[in-house]
Amino acid sequence: MMTRHRGQYKPGHESPYELSRSRIENFVRCPACFYMQQVLKIEFPSIPGFNINEATDILLKRDFDKYRGQSETHPFLIHMGMEHLVPFEHEHFELWTQSLHFGATNRMNTVHEPTHLLVGGGLDDVWLNTKTNQLHIIDYKSTSQKSRDKEITLEDPWKAAYKRQMDLYVWVMLQKGFDVSDEGYFLYCDGDRFSDYDFLGTQNAVMKFKMSLLPYTVDTTWIEPTLFDVKECLDGPRCPDHDPDCEHGHFLKQVLS
Ligand code: SF4
Repeated sequence: MMTRHRGQYKPGHESPYELSRSRIENFVRCPACFYMQQVLKIEFPSIPGFNINEATDILLKRDFDKYRGQSETHPFLIHMGMEHLVPFEHEHFELWTQSLHFGATNRMNTVHEPTHLLVGGGLDDVWLNTKTNQLHIIDYKSTSQKSRDKEITLEDPWKAAYKRQMDLYVWVMLQKGFDVSDEGYFLYCDGDRFSDYDFLGTQNAVMKFKMSLLPYTVDTTWIEPTLFDVKECLDGPRCPDHDPDCEHGHFLKQVLS
């Protein structure tokens, strides 16, 4: 049996090299960082998880699970006039949601043969469009907007990473042979800090969330060229140069000078 190729990159390894979507995002943000992590195996400081966001993800999935594969969808979608979108049922669905060990069999992954990279991740949800029979990739997001009347949009610059995540998930599912729509949806929970309601009860506190369902048309054209660039970087003889405009780089230079 072939051993899996993950962690530190080993040129010429017989198994495809496992790269999660977050590692690909690291490459897009900074090839130097990516090279240090994947090739030189430099350990970067860990970032603590966002547990409240994780909780909303779990609760949303639990609610949608009740309608998975059913003839009638969740009342939220009916209320939105989107009764044709039904949580998709598939024997491997639970495995697709698991980002840890995404490289194992029946996960949300695919091998890009020309680069021998195994690309994947863990998705939040998939809904079946009963009008078109296509699948829509769904990403749950949580926030709490600081301004009362601001609508949630996908325009903020940092949300480019969210879009790339969706692009990649759609691309992976297409490679797996599913008929996936190029329209994905971000389902946003916005912790309501403005409406007049009692937060604290006698034993529990209950926060209300405003919900928004934002459609996004994916762009998968960047993915293959990026995978070729990733492969070239991994096989490169040395770490790419630091980005001269990177503020962390400026910081490091000052510390070391
Ligand atoms: S300091 Fe900046 S340019 Fe250098 S590796 Fe880190 S993020 Fe990249």
